[in-house]
Amino acid sequence: MRKKEHQKILVVGLGVSGRAVCELLLGRGAEVSATDLRSFSEFGGALDSLGKAGAILRLGGHRLEDFLGADTIIVSPGIPLDIEPLARARSAGIEIIGELEWAWRQVSLPAIAVTGANGKTTTTALIGEMLKQAGKRPFVGGNIGTPLSRWILSQERADFLVLELSSFQLDTASTFRPDVGVLLNVTEDHLDRYPSFEAYADSKLSIFSRQSSEDFAIINAADPVCAGRAVQIPGKLLSFGASTANAQVCGRVVRLAVPGKAAIEISLEKTRLNGVHNRENIMAACLAALCVGIDPQAMQAAVDTFEGFAHRVEWVRNWKGIDFYDDSKATNVGAVVKALEGFDRPVLLLLGGRDKLGAYEPLLAPLAARAKAAFAFGEAGPKIYELLRATIPAGLYPDLPAAFHDAAGRAEPGDVVLLSPACASFDQYQSYAQRGDHFKELVAGLGH
Ligand code: ADP
Repeated sequence: MRKKEHQKILVVGLGVSGRAVCELLLGRGAEVSATDLRSFSEFGGALDSLGKAGAILRLGGHRLEDFLGADTIIVSPGIPLDIEPLARARSAGIEIIGELEWAWRQVSLPAIAVTGANGKTTTTALIGEMLKQAGKRPFVGGNIGTPLSRWILSQERADFLVLELSSFQLDTASTFRPDVGVLLNVTEDHLDRYPSFEAYADSKLSIFSRQSSEDFAIINAADPVCAGRAVQIPGKLLSFGASTANAQVCGRVVRLAVPGKAAIEISLEKTRLNGVHNRENIMAACLAALCVGIDPQAMQAAVDTFEGFAHRVEWVRNWKGIDFYDDSKATNVGAVVKALEGFDRPVLLLLGGRDKLGAYEPLLAPLAARAKAAFAFGEAGPKIYELLRATIPAGLYPDLPAAFHDAAGRAEPGDVVLLSPACASFDQYQSYAQRGDHFKELVAGLGH
């Protein structure tokens, strides 16, 4: 630790986590430079205290000499790792780590970490609730909510870390090793950022790569990538989903059978987490909680009371016998497949937005089985429309309102109108939440 304090550190990206890293480093007397493409004025005063505390601020662009002159470079989530100055620094042998990796080196607490293409936020929060119900004080954050570095800065106490990890955070980790790692699924996502699906899968699997045989690795046995790669995992392997797994759903109950522990049943009667995907999230959360000794009563209380989050197969309203669901957070095909599998009624699916370059073909079978029609919109609309129209009735629309009004007009009592876009929102919205809120406004505008 003392050695690091005298290092020259460059922080790249001055969002919430980058600023927290700077503050922590400055407090320890380190020589800190920080760079961001945004100009000083674009931060609206958020950098004033850093400047006063002695950080060297390089704004409005990156300077190669700052990168090459650093001993360690700490990158914030969202900074592409292939930008020129980072590539040059890497070639020069300079250590490049992510904010999560750096923060991890500053704490020494047991950690449960959750990754996957989908379900991370829900599962991480549910595990946090289970720990709280058991009287623990977890810090729940990482890729959601509060970054780990910001929590360190706050000096709040905790006895556990429950972390949601993105693939970016895994790609920029070199010592991070959770006591319990959870990999929910590996379906196509972010192919705009990874050279191949294999590379994306490698990134997700790396959550386990530094674990010892004492640590726990929880995987989805029904996911072909997880199951296919299980042999590479060094920790104690526990799985959910398949008939031979340690956690299974039997009717309205989750059964946990873990060697060395008493069998447990968790009822699903009261849970508000609906859908096939949420059963997987509940199974994963129960296994993680079991690994750290949480009692079944605490697990059950969390499952019974956890409300879930908005924009994730969220029921909005019944209008004239038609149910409207907002699943705007479904920004990849895997999430849409699971959303469709959760309905046993005809679905009118609204989808489209910014293409993430994955294949839409996995939608065809669930759409053929469950969907009445598809309504494609936004930048990716034409590509999706061309693919789907051979399988089900499909229409092409410039934007969400146009798609919505046609779908609402065609739906009949008993149907479901589902926004589950399979795409990012950034072609027409600032975020998935803004897109979901717009959908809700459209639903409210239907009148009585
Ligand atoms: P993440 O943090 O990984 O994005 P969320 O819990 O925010 O996960 O859910 C994102 C989207 O994925 C939502 O559309 C949700 O309905 C769907 N989803 C949640 N859990 C799963 C799962 N286990 N498998 C597939 N899709 C899921």
